[in-house]
Amino acid sequence: AIEMIDVDKWFGDFQVLKGINLNVKPGDRVVICGPSGSGKSTVVRCINRLEAHQKGVIKIGGVVQDGSAAALEAIRSEVGMVFQQFNLFPHLSVMENLVLGPMKARGMTRKDAEVRAMKYLERVRIPEQALKRPSQLSGGQQQRVAIARSLCMEPKVMLFDEPTSALDPEMISEVLDVIVELAEEGMTMVVVTHEMGFARKVADQMVFMDKGEIVETGTPEDFFNAPKSERTQAFLKQIL
Ligand code: ATP
Ligand code: MG
Repeated sequence: AIEMIDVDKWFGDFQVLKGINLNVKPGDRVVICGPSGSGKSTVVRCINRLEAHQKGVIKIGGVVQDGSAAALEAIRSEVGMVFQQFNLFPHLSVMENLVLGPMKARGMTRKDAEVRAMKYLERVRIPEQALKRPSQLSGGQQQRVAIARSLCMEPKVMLFDEPTSALDPEMISEVLDVIVELAEEGMTMVVVTHEMGFARKVADQMVFMDKGEIVETGTPEDFFNAPKSERTQAFLKQIL
């Protein structure tokens, strides 16, 4: 579903990504971790073209990402993204936030879009919040709305960039539980997170980044129990 081959990216003369290779196949659950500033967000932002890379190849659903309209369409139909900040429209109800994409981008009728929205609100366990505004919800509920909004577009892959790091501690697990359930249902996902307990549970591939490079990849078992690189060992020591 996602292929990154020798991807380089610069911000001005600062090289933020160095030869990134990443292969996410249908059903894969990839967790990316690494120190602040290592390029994790930039990787996911390049996958859905919020940032353009300068060298190498990124393919989404087999389509080479070159900035063309056809390439952007492949991203829109394949990839959903959930950010640290929930990015909901504050002036719209939860329901309006959810039906917007399917109506505008998919040409669905309001009725069909509302049926779909309720299905995914139930999936994230807050169907009773449909008519509230985001500001009337807790952070954990808002993030679950953001997840439901992405699901309403029925993407093949979900990208999560630190989905719980803006949340109060008591709300983290309600969001992680929803993501674990999606994983168990077979959703393909790439998750940037520091929640290592969660990573152990959902990942089939761990990726450790440092200074713009992928330093180490492995199964969670190998990664946590026998990290090969000294940089990985030092990082895990710090956060576990
Ligand atoms: P964090 O864990 O803090 O979220 P990260 O691993 O997600 O970090 P990125 O946000 O990908 O890191 O940033 C990688 C590097 O690129 C950082 O040094 C950052 O300052 C720099 N950077 C990110 N976005 C830009 C930008 N738009 N312009 C210039 N530099 C940027
Ligand atoms: Mg980041």
